[in-house]
Amino acid sequence: MIDIDNVAVIGGDKRQIAMAESILSDGYNVYTSGFETIELKKGIIKTTTSEAISKCKYVILPLPVLGKDLCLNAPYADEKVKIDDNFARYMYGKKVFCGMAGKLMSTSNIWNDINLYDYSKREEFAINNAVPTAEGAIEIAMHEYSGTINGSRCLVAGFGRIGKVLCRMLEGMGAKVTVSARKTKDLAWINVLGYNSILTSKIGCKNRYDIIFNTIPSMIFDSHTLAKSAGDAIVIDLASSPGGVDFKAAKRLKIKAISALSLPGKVAPKAAGEIIKNTVYNMIEEGQL
Ligand code: NAP
Repeated sequence: MIDIDNVAVIGGDKRQIAMAESILSDGYNVYTSGFETIELKKGIIKTTTSEAISKCKYVILPLPVLGKDLCLNAPYADEKVKIDDNFARYMYGKKVFCGMAGKLMSTSNIWNDINLYDYSKREEFAINNAVPTAEGAIEIAMHEYSGTINGSRCLVAGFGRIGKVLCRMLEGMGAKVTVSARKTKDLAWINVLGYNSILTSKIGCKNRYDIIFNTIPSMIFDSHTLAKSAGDAIVIDLASSPGGVDFKAAKRLKIKAISALSLPGKVAPKAAGEIIKNTVYNMIEEGQL
């Protein structure tokens, strides 16, 4: 058990709800605001933002903190919560956790005086999130591809966190997996692990695939590479905006390309909530705060 009694969970989607429930089941008191329109598990305290924060040393804000309207990302709130100096002032003296802190910092100078910690920047967060991301990508592939994953020719572009998890899952389902990387070290690992390897810069020279998963956050699948490698393939771009696929070119070439973002929260909110909770616990336990 870690040294906390009360935790405030302010806003968020189903991930934060799952996280709040999990924190409660660990034996802590959980005060929430921003979930007025949805029923929460018995024991979770619904209150106002100011009261929730005043009761707690630790405050957990959502990922991302801000919605497109620059208000708190709180789809279950009964009214918009403005993120301004007043909101930041509540946080004096608290340990505040959030995802994508950069945007929050730009909303008020007060954040410079607040103990603010970004769980989305932690390595274990990114590694663990690779699992629901890879599962979500496969779910999309199963839905969009008319064949089975078993026996399909899959290309995974990039051998980072998501690439590593994804190629293992695909192989487990019986796909013929080719993985791209730019480092010789990664190509060696890809071969040792039994996948076909290809240099990322050579993707456009290779045979056709049935399903292409891009994890590289750089424009890899431009019109030339799409024309050479994609053919009848379905292209699923997992890389964060602006992504790695030229969607206009894909449309022109009549290639089915799908941008698949924010998968952990969409496909596995419970797991995604646990990942946030465990990351925050790690940060507290490491005593960096
Ligand atoms: P990662 O571990 O950093 O892996 C990225 C891979 O791309 C590495 O193999 C890297 O190679 C390669 N790469 C990067 N820039 C390249 C370039 N210019 N040319 C060739 N290769 C390049 O990242 P990750 O955690 O797997 O995440 C991948 C992307 O998915 C990120 O954009 C991340 O934000 C996003 N993401 C999406 C979701 C979703 O739901 N869709 C969820 C989580 C994350 P090197 O090792 O050689 O640099």
